[in-house]
Amino acid sequence: MDGIRKQIDWLENMGLDQFALVDIVGTLISDSQSGGWMGALGRAQLARDAMDEVLVARLAAKSAAGQFVWSVGAVAGGDEGMRGAGGLQMLRKPQANPKLVSGDVEVMKHRQELLASIPCLFAELPIPRYFPVTFVDCRECGNVHYLDAACPLISGSSGNVGQAGAGKVAFRGGVAT
Ligand SMILES: [Zn+2]
Repeated sequence: MDGIRKQIDWLENMGLDQFALVDIVGTLISDSQSGGWMGALGRAQLARDAMDEVLVARLAAKSAAGQFVWSVGAVAGGDEGMRGAGGLQMLRKPQANPKLVSGDVEVMKHRQELLASIPCLFAELPIPRYFPVTFVDCRECGNVHYLDAACPLISGSSGNVGQAGAGKVAFRGGVAT
């Protein structure tokens, strides 16, 4: 919990306009014997309900961060990006970064550095041909690449998200603005 809150603080101190936490809750795979898509949707809702106390406690009450949860029911035959039941839910709307609003000198300096470095970072990537575009700060290869592009270090990397709920800071998932 402390680690997640520290990551949120880090995003605030980087001077982002808004930032959010996205939790992805995975489920067991539903096949035709367990209801297929409808079974997966039911499992997604049960998993979401089971995580409720954890989700509520994720962020400090005064945090400006937004909060989203994607409880995804896995359907046999493909990964959740193509065959996942359930959608993204917003639990808390992101607020304007309070340190930008107050004109915090250190945060404004970080923001300028960020604004200067982001174009350089994205200049190395091919121009996207679709929308929306999601980037990943990949922990495997240490680079920023498209979410749906194959990681050069993980060939054939697909599969289900898994059963454990995984906290993820939105900046890494590309939801931050
Ligand atoms: Zn990678």
